[in-house]
Amino acid sequence: MKSPSVTLRSVDELCDRALVPRERLDELATVAARYAVAITPAMVELIEAGDPHDPIARQFVSDARELEQHPEESSDPIGDDAFSPIEGIVHRYPDRVLLKIVNACAVYCRFCFRREMVGPGRGGLSPAALAAALDYIQGRPQIWEVILSGGDPLVLSARRLKDVVSRLAAIAHAKVIRVHTRVPVVAPERITAALVRALRAGAKATFVILHVNHPRELTGNARAACARFVDAGIPMLAQSVLLRGVNDDPETLGTLMRTLVECRIKPYYLHHADLAPGTAHLRTTIAEGQDLMRAIRGRYSGLCQPTYVLDIPGGHGKSPIGPNYLSDDGAVVEDFNGRRHRYPPRR
Ligand code: SF4
Repeated sequence: MKSPSVTLRSVDELCDRALVPRERLDELATVAARYAVAITPAMVELIEAGDPHDPIARQFVSDARELEQHPEESSDPIGDDAFSPIEGIVHRYPDRVLLKIVNACAVYCRFCFRREMVGPGRGGLSPAALAAALDYIQGRPQIWEVILSGGDPLVLSARRLKDVVSRLAAIAHAKVIRVHTRVPVVAPERITAALVRALRAGAKATFVILHVNHPRELTGNARAACARFVDAGIPMLAQSVLLRGVNDDPETLGTLMRTLVECRIKPYYLHHADLAPGTAHLRTTIAEGQDLMRAIRGRYSGLCQPTYVLDIPGGHGKSPIGPNYLSDDGAVVEDFNGRRHRYPPRR
């Protein structure tokens, strides 16, 4: 599809682009009133209009099933609130904090675990709230790493990012800055030389973690945007969400991981989809996720293996969820072909 010049932000605009049939406008307007819509030109261009199974459309185009809320789903599925001592900070693990500097994104993903908190016009931290958040970090010497999150921090201007990074750089015990973003794939034109310089402003160890779910997202422009970080000495890792109908087959998942490695991006986490409201149609079971991990283990390079993790509801953090290749008693280990071997071997 020919790309629009601006981000689509309403169901009406999705109808105009034939991404949803006009007869469903009223129904989907109800969805959009609850969960924000934004599809950037780069992502619209990738969508095969009229294909109800298109893996890019499934991630961004509103769906009536989002109005179905299941009892186990929650507006705060990973328990951010319980670990937020002050506005903008989530302090779940001892040595690191999330610094949520903005609540807007370039796109709004239909599976987002913070979907009730993000949206256009939600803005970011006020100057006073940012100062208080930085004071919180300054006052806790155990904080070794600061994760810039949101929303998507790379929707901010290079000037604002440089300000935040420079102020973090002044905190001696915060040795590492990590930026979580979807922007290099959904709006690669935002990754300018000025923005890359802004992330280097503090001269701290800085990592960019790319959120990407399907190999088609890694267009030429997205690869070039990522190369700008890597060439500037900013290592990149990737996190993906396991999504039904998007990447829940071994070939798509393996191709995604290989493409990332070819772009010099190390696959880091494969997240089991969180229990966010209205997302059941996009979730797999954990058993299905484990089967996928088994399928890519051994058939794809070790560089292509993410860790499959679950964010435990209630805020208890991430845990790896297998599969496990070692028997409970530690006496039998399974290889990538499913064959079992005694350990140590019997002589
Ligand atoms: S970019 Fe991230 S925070 Fe924003 S809607 Fe998508 S998943 Fe949520």
